[in-house]
Order: sequence, then C-alpha cells, then structure tokens
Amino acid sequence: MAELVLERLPDEAGAAENVIELAGARKTYRTGSIEFEALRGVDLAIRTGEYVAIMGPSGSGKSTLMNIVGCLDVLTAGEYRLAGEDVGELDEVELADVRNRRLGFVFQQFHLLPSLTAWRNVELPLIYGRVPAAERRERAVAALERVGLGDKLDNRPGELSGGQQQRVAVARALVGEPALILADEPTGNLDSRSTEDVLALFDELHVQGRTIVLITHELEVAEHARRIVTVRDGLIQSDEVNPR
Ligand code: ADP
Ligand code: MG
Repeated sequence: MAELVLERLPDEAGAAENVIELAGARKTYRTGSIEFEALRGVDLAIRTGEYVAIMGPSGSGKSTLMNIVGCLDVLTAGEYRLAGEDVGELDEVELADVRNRRLGFVFQQFHLLPSLTAWRNVELPLIYGRVPAAERRERAVAALERVGLGDKLDNRPGELSGGQQQRVAVARALVGEPALILADEPTGNLDSRSTEDVLALFDELHVQGRTIVLITHELEVAEHARRIVTVRDGLIQSDEVNPR
C-alpha cells in the first residue's frame, strides 16, 4: 500500500506543474520619446489542466498579456516561464519554435487559409513541426472529428459557418498537443448559437484535461472558465475561483 502511494506521488506533483509563470512582468512600449507601461508588475501562475479567463476593459493590457503569454512579444522586465522554460532570453526564431511546440492559438478572426480545405488548415502546425505527411493527415482528421467536424474534412472555410470555422481553428490549435490553448476573444465574431457551440467545446476540452486561457471582455463568456483573472491598468485586479 505504502509503495503504491509513493509511486503515485510524482505523477500527481507533475500534474500540478505550472504551465505559465509570470513574475514581476512589465511591458513598456516606446513611441518616439514617449513611454507607456502596459504591464506594471504582473505575477500569475497557471497550472496544468486549469481553465482560466482573463478579463478587463479595453486598454487594460489583455492583448499585451496575451502577446507575452503567447510568445509573440517579450517582457521589458520580469520573468516568464512557459512549461518550465524561461522564454525571456530567446530570439525570434527560438520564440517561433516555442510557439509551435507549446501553444495552440484561437483568434477572434479564425485566421484560416481560405484556399485550403479544413483538414489542410488543421495539419499546418504539424508541417512546421516536420511531422510526416501520413501522420499529419491522420492527426488532422482525428482533431476535426474531436470538434465534431468529421463530415467537413474537405470543405474550405468559405463553405462553413462561422461557428464551424472557429471549430476548425480549435482543431488546428489542438492538433500539435500543445501545453496550452490560448484563445483571444474566440467568440467575438460569432452569433449566440455558435458562441454556445464553441464554449461547449472548450468545456469538453477542459474536462479532458486541456489547459485553456481565454481572453474576453464578456462576463457570460468568462463564466465558462473555472478561474477568472481581471486585469486593470496593467495590473491584476482580482483573481478568483468561479464557483459556477
Ligand atoms: P487591451 O487588449 O486590454 O485592450 P492592450 O494590451 O491592447 O489592451 O493595450 C494596453 C495599453 O497599451 C493601451 O493603453 C494601449 O494604448 C497601449 N499599447 C498597446 N500596444 C501598444 C504599442 N504597440 N505601442 C504603444 N502603446 C501600446
Ligand atoms: Mg485587446
């Protein structure tokens, strides 16, 4: 008995590892001689398997935070660790590699390539990751089936509804088995029915153990997450468990 418990401990500790660790995070933008501090000292840790919404009014620093967390930009001061890796010292090429290996992005505007079929869009991260063609096809199909689009593999984005296009984007975010899915206003361009669809999909992914960070300015959307972090004037204003 004691042996069993001891054997299981490392796994449990591993499951609680931080995917995101920001410490004293500051971001200063310079426009000519004018400086603006968009993040003014943010401490934030997000563990594996969490579903976190980041909320805040326009101009509060959400996109700045998303760009940092998504390795699209780097901090001016402070530390950012992604899946244990200090990304502060990386150059552009290394950051692109970290993005491809660790992150799955879902954007408000879907960002699908209009000339490619659904499965060809979904396989893209795997091409950058140098996965062989047959495996790419297999994984893209599995990801599309996962989001309920197994019957739309060969449709181009223009032949799909907004909600379906966003589900293709979610499949593309999933296909590389990222440590984190990062969604920036993913329902911002969807009608209420498709919004429910996509949010239900995120709920399922969370239950299946995915780590999700969802950026939104809408409380109804944020309330799907299990933890709600509010940003204001470049600082975390509140960080609460959502009892829902
Ligand atoms: P949000 O996404 O919450 O609306 P942002 O992170 O986009 O907020 O912006 C936070 C603040 O930083 C705003 O005051 C914005 O004007 C400023 N800002 C954002 N990007 C830049 C930039 N590239 N150069 C200068 N100021 C910027
Ligand atoms: Mg923004």
